[in-house]
Amino acid sequence: MNVPLRGIGMTSQRTRERLIQRLRDEGVRDQRVLDAIRETPRHIFVDEALASRAYEDTALPIGYGQTISQPFIVAVMTQTLLAGGVPRNVLEIGTGSGYQTAVLSRLVPLVHSIERLAPLFQLAHKRMRQLNCRNVRLRLGDGSQGWLEHGPYDAILVTAAPPEIPEPLLQQLAVGGRMVVPVGEQGAQELQLIQRTEQGITRERLEYVSFVPLVRG
Ligand code: SAH
Repeated sequence: MNVPLRGIGMTSQRTRERLIQRLRDEGVRDQRVLDAIRETPRHIFVDEALASRAYEDTALPIGYGQTISQPFIVAVMTQTLLAGGVPRNVLEIGTGSGYQTAVLSRLVPLVHSIERLAPLFQLAHKRMRQLNCRNVRLRLGDGSQGWLEHGPYDAILVTAAPPEIPEPLLQQLAVGGRMVVPVGEQGAQELQLIQRTEQGITRERLEYVSFVPLVRG
């Protein structure tokens, strides 16, 4: 059975509106981001058995030991990327369910996203088609190498945590570009904002977070 796109019951417009209000209460200010989250049906990115919990502000399992990110974290990361102006070309590492990818696709002209697990990659691909996200390019592979052919990127968003930022990602960040990335070992990760200026790289620490690890290879 296909889960309907528009949503009924616990996936209704009212349930979604409650999530938006909660994100506002937690300090998310960017109206563009709130609108994109409101318009993105999160219940189609989780297993049917979890669809009734899709609009809770919590991470949920998506199989293979991975999780769909918490809406608050999606909002914070997206808001941080957009704070310097709308990036034209975005690279995302860790497609997972494709939820963050779909939110981004409503806000920027072009999204490239890489996932290393084939079943998740395939499901995400199907959902992008279902939602008619035409400005998204997906790739199966190791995101720590970036995606050289389509770079440099105005924004890079990493949704799995490396112990250190992979060098190829720093190299593929355009001058004036911004990268949001959780860095560190499990249990002690911090979200960082990396910016490339004419002079070099700057690094800002944002907040403590909990992501699945970025796996090499
Ligand atoms: N934004 C996603 C988060 C998924 S969790 C969502 O909201 O659904 C992080 C994802 O990163 C997992 O799917 C995991 O398989 C993937 N991942 C981990 N290491 C990776 C790597 N080196 N390259 C690409 N994807 C990776």
